[in-house]
Amino acid sequence: MDDIPEAVREKATYKPASRLPFGSIVGGVSLGALALVTSAFLLRPTAPNNNESISNQTVAKPENNTPSNSEPSATAIPDKSPSPTAAPPQQVKKTEEVDRLLGHLPYKEVPASELVAITADGNIKLRRAAAEKFQQMQAAAAAEGIILTPISGFRSISEQDYLFFRVKEQRAQDTSKRAEVSAPPGYSEHHTGYAIDVGDGNVPATNLSPDFENTAAFRWLEQNAARYSFELSFPRDNSQGISYEPWHWRFVGDRHSLETFYRVRNLKQN
Ligand SMILES: [Zn+2]
Repeated sequence: MDDIPEAVREKATYKPASRLPFGSIVGGVSLGALALVTSAFLLRPTAPNNNESISNQTVAKPENNTPSNSEPSATAIPDKSPSPTAAPPQQVKKTEEVDRLLGHLPYKEVPASELVAITADGNIKLRRAAAEKFQQMQAAAAAEGIILTPISGFRSISEQDYLFFRVKEQRAQDTSKRAEVSAPPGYSEHHTGYAIDVGDGNVPATNLSPDFENTAAFRWLEQNAARYSFELSFPRDNSQGISYEPWHWRFVGDRHSLETFYRVRNLKQN
């Protein structure tokens, strides 16, 4: 979930705050500049062109001289509140604060009517568009002797609830450790019907293990998954702080899936 480091988010958050005082500073500066310009006129009434350079210098100066840009002049804010630049960044801030939990982003559960089975026993399902592409991909891999085995596709929020809380208890994991390897209920990409955990049918011992990256199936996926609009959700050292999951792939091959996974992230970068 490919996201943005805290520092960047905070920068975006503070932007509007620093803008407002800056506006008021400019207001203040223009008064100071006016005084200087006036005195320049008094001193050198015949050289109007110099006035611009004088006032430019004065504008630059106070900007550097304001040490606490972020806090000051709360009293100036009411004067400048009509500023149209303040509104959009505040919306961004709101979104950022709402959406993360322990590094994970919230996802809606796909309606059951949009799910299609991708295994003969019907136990593993994906959203229709993802299911079709996965099966095409599986067939292409099979033609090269690679067995892409579906391990887990769609998961309901209640199934995820068990995986997060009960397994956490069984393993006596603390919350943040659990969140590195499992999404809390409501925050799993598997709720969308676009995510699938894939194993190598020739090396099942590597299922759901980082060792999966050493299999022929993983190498094949690395080279070919993009042809079917699948991508790795949690590559090594991902900025979400989620453990590397070479087995977990997501479909991003139509508008809805793309928006599902990228819309929130784009907001974070603003
Ligand atoms: Zn997964």
